[in-house]
Amino acid sequence: MKTKKAPPALVRIRLKKNDLVEVSSGKEKGKTGKVLRVLREKNQVVVEKVNMIKRHTRPSPTSGQGGIVEKEAPLNVSKVKLICPKCATATRFSLTLTGEGKKARVCLKCKEMIDG
Ligand SMILES: [Zn+2]
Repeated sequence: MKTKKAPPALVRIRLKKNDLVEVSSGKEKGKTGKVLRVLREKNQVVVEKVNMIKRHTRPSPTSGQGGIVEKEAPLNVSKVKLICPKCATATRFSLTLTGEGKKARVCLKCKEMIDG
């Protein structure tokens, strides 16, 4: 008999701030941008100029004039792929240990380490 287990749904995020990513699905497919924020607890990332949403703001003493502000909405990490800065390809990565015992990501295409 199978028991219904709910495994922790957390996906290990290998993305970091300032990584270059490409959107691999959804309406923003094909767009590239820099990771601005990683929301680990939600498995989401905020990518510069991707998934823009319009927010209406009211005039206030702190923000000055009201109006429409465009800002990036978070995307699920499964929708983006890391782009290798060395070979400029959205490819797969594996983790390796550096000489100093730190984890670094290695591009499976050009075999370059992308974390120093
Ligand atoms: Zn590469």
